[in-house]
Amino acid sequence: MFLKKLTLNNYRNYQSIEINLDHNINIFIGPNAQGKTNLLEAIYVMALTKSHRTNTDKELIGWGFNETTLYSEIEKKYGSNKLEIHLSQKGKKVKVNGLEQRKLSDFIGVLNVVMFAPEDLEIVKGSPRIRRRFIDMELGQIHPSYIYDLQQYQKILNQRNNLLKQHHSANDKHLNDLLSIWDQQFAQFGIKIIKKRQHFIKKLQIWIEQIHSSITNGKENLKVIYKPSFEFEQFDDETVLFNQFMLKLTKMREKEIKRGITLIGPHRDDLLFLINDKEVQTFGSQGQQRTTALSIKLAEIELIHEEVGEYPLLLLDDVLSELDQYRQTQLIETFQDKVQTFITTTGIESVNLSKLNEAKLFHVLEGT
Ligand code: ATP
Ligand code: MG
Repeated sequence: MFLKKLTLNNYRNYQSIEINLDHNINIFIGPNAQGKTNLLEAIYVMALTKSHRTNTDKELIGWGFNETTLYSEIEKKYGSNKLEIHLSQKGKKVKVNGLEQRKLSDFIGVLNVVMFAPEDLEIVKGSPRIRRRFIDMELGQIHPSYIYDLQQYQKILNQRNNLLKQHHSANDKHLNDLLSIWDQQFAQFGIKIIKKRQHFIKKLQIWIEQIHSSITNGKENLKVIYKPSFEFEQFDDETVLFNQFMLKLTKMREKEIKRGITLIGPHRDDLLFLINDKEVQTFGSQGQQRTTALSIKLAEIELIHEEVGEYPLLLLDDVLSELDQYRQTQLIETFQDKVQTFITTTGIESVNLSKLNEAKLFHVLEGT
């Protein structure tokens, strides 16, 4: 798939722009603080309706304005699509081919993107929350129904937490009755998420291992392991999974009431990365952590291609300069002519132009 045209109105520091993009490689070049990342962010928002750097949509609206509109035209194997997002103080509206979509999950997935930015190192080094966000964003754009399950789960989790916050006696019959009702629904949506995450990580693992081995000339074996909030004996049978979850909830109930919060479930999941069986987060060198982040992102591209049948867009924010010549060349050679790529840089010298067949260069200056 490729992004043909992007139009922004009052988005961050862009008042009004319309750009026609190259189907192969687009380079955004300019000094700091001119709007390069803002452009990549806008493309990311077109795909996921959410920024990669903030959860507060209002931050995307240009200062001094009340609303912003993003518009794009996308070419896919089987025809073209027009996407539109409208953000105001009141909320978010999304349209596909002019038709408003009530559910975000009917919008997400039309455009697929993989963003690679310096912050991605946090997927390896940072807190479990960042790794969960990573799974949610990626899985969500491949299987939009996952977003719906996640929203339902979150709703039930909030209600369950409210209940636990208000009562602190494990002998409270009313509380126990209510929890027994909530737990059924909680486990129902919980296992849906666990199952999908487990399946996703298993598939991602195949690509990650292959790609990382090739980047490191066969010297390193990288593994990603799904760590649910408690051990499951197996993931395949939904009834068994549900029963295991319910049993664990019963075991945890007293503790949860005492602590006033839900202690198990997908909101506490994590991922583990291992290089040659050693945890990368703890033992990996700076370079190994960076390469791990790169392998994860490249694996994502291949996985989206496998699942969706088309390559996603690749957004490279300030990362080419961090890769050595070998990795840069490998990246460009692997995806050139296959994946529409967007590169930001402050200086053209950090991009290895000799390997590019063709590219379109945009000079970015103060939001123009
Ligand atoms: P760098 O090379 O430092 O990464 P950049 O070109 O990627 O720079 P951006 O992150 O795109 O820069 O930001 C450009 C400018 O946008 C910033 O100076 C910031 O002040 C401005 N900006 C951020 N949010 C808004 C907003 N909501 N409205 C108007 N301007 C904004
Ligand atoms: Mg930037």
